[in-house]
Formats: sequence, structure tokens, C-alpha cells
Amino acid sequence: MTKTRVDLRDYVVISIWFGCNNDCCLCMLNGLRQSLPPIGFERFREILFEIRDQGRIRNLILSGAEVTTCDDLFQYVEFAVSLGWFEKIQIQTNGRRLADLNYLRELVARGVNEFFVSIHGTGSVHDNIVRRAGAYRETMQGLRNLAGLGGVNIISNTVMTEANYHDLENLMAVLSAERISEFHLWNFFPMRAGDRESLIVDLNRVVPLIPRLRAMLGPEIRPLVLKAFPHCLPVTEGVVFDSWFPVTVLPTAFWEEFGTSRFRECPHQHICLDKSCWGISGAYRARFGDEHQLLHPF
Ligand code: SF4
Repeated sequence: MTKTRVDLRDYVVISIWFGCNNDCCLCMLNGLRQSLPPIGFERFREILFEIRDQGRIRNLILSGAEVTTCDDLFQYVEFAVSLGWFEKIQIQTNGRRLADLNYLRELVARGVNEFFVSIHGTGSVHDNIVRRAGAYRETMQGLRNLAGLGGVNIISNTVMTEANYHDLENLMAVLSAERISEFHLWNFFPMRAGDRESLIVDLNRVVPLIPRLRAMLGPEIRPLVLKAFPHCLPVTEGVVFDSWFPVTVLPTAFWEEFGTSRFRECPHQHICLDKSCWGISGAYRARFGDEHQLLHPF
């Protein structure tokens, strides 16, 4: 098991296509997925040649929507491996396809050595969020298959919303028994100006929950990594903030939509020395206020 955290400054994310076998209510691509074009193998090759020639970024993340539903995934992985440049080749996945052990073995044999697996609750909590019955069972089987393989790094990915807030302690207890090296927990940022489905969690309820989640995870050597939460929230040992957004290749239409989210709405942003913090979103501020007393500039 790795004791070194992933350093996303040394990763590039390439979304290769936008098909998916889930339909998550919290998906950042909701309403966009069907209209976004796949990258295409030729463009993918060009980008990878550029990355290698620039000589800077050593790790690659293949993303989607859901990359394991792409029939050509092996071809993309094999090409990346053939360059002899990338140390890590990660896939971001909902993990359902990894329940098929033969498929997973083939992925690893071709060169995937890191898995970022999304799981948002236990049992029906997860299934209701991803809107697919039986998805939780498959994702958990995928995690167990990964653990049985050895030699690969496994990171879990959970998005905190009102739909799973009540179940997150259960989930962390379940995940703590798996061979996961770090547990990522994302703050939910809707991809629009408002929180239409009322999914954002009040930060005043987040603060007391974090130490309880940490307690469920066991030894602190496996960190709970808070993503896109205000960096000045009080946390305990074994909890780290990391809001770094790696270099990401996505169609222009995505970035136009992303811009409507209005990040960095913290009232202290202009004086705070932490420039990597996302602060709060416009949607959060509209629902809960600017939290000027809870947030403290560095
Ligand atoms: S004061 Fe604002 S910008 Fe600074 S760490 Fe807190 S939330 Fe982030």
C-alpha cells in the first residue's frame, strides 16, 4: 500500500468519452453528456505526444463520464503505455465494470495501475444517487477484486450531498475495511448558478461530521482528503485539504458550463493567502449566506 499521497500537480486528466452506465444526480456532466464529443484516438495521440515532449507531467488519468463503458479503452491505455513516459495510468470510474474480474485483469495487464473509484453511500443510498439498482453491489465487488489483485493503487471518491450526509459514517466504516490508500471526499458544487435539487450541505453541519468520519477510517496513515471544502475549516489529524485541479482536457462546452458555477465566493478571498482554496460557490452563498464568521483568512 502506498504511503505517499497522489500529487495531482503531476497528473493530466483526459476525458476520452462521455458514455456512462450510471445516471448520478450529482454528475458534473448532467445535461451536457449527450452533446459532448469523444476525443477521438488521433487527437488523444497528439495530446499525449505533446505531454511527453513537454517533459513535465508524468502521470495520466483517463476519465469520462465512465471510461469503462468505452469499447476502445484498451487501445487508449496501450498507446499511453507504449510511450514509456507515464509512471501512473489511472482510470476514474464508478467501479461497476470492475466487478468483472476478467475485464479488470485485462485492464491491469494492459497497464492501468491506479484506480479512482466513486462510491457515494451504502446500499440503496448509493443506488438512489447513481439512479441504478444494484450499482452498489457491483462497485463494492469491483473494490474487492482490486484488493485481490495487489500492485495497484486504489483511491475512493465520494461526493457529500444532502442525499448521503446521514450515511457517510456508515460508508467510511465500510471503506476502511478495503485496501484503499486514501479516501477523497468532495464538497458538492452544482454546475449551475443555483442548487436546484437542494443537495448542498450547510458547512456548519460539515464541521462536526469530519472528525466522526475520520474516526471511522482507522489509522491516520490513510488520509481523509477534503476536496473543494474551505481550507480554513477546523479539522483533526489524518484529514488533509487538497483542492488542486490537475491539467484537464475536456471539450470547450464543459468549461463554459463550469464558469456558471461561480467558485471563489468567499468574502475573505481577496485578503486570504491561500490561493488554492475554492472558497464557497455562488449556489452555496445564495442558500446559506457568505459564512464570514465561520471562514477565516490565512
Ligand atoms: S478564508 Fe476563504 S479563501 Fe481563505 S481558506 Fe477560508 S474559505 Fe478559503
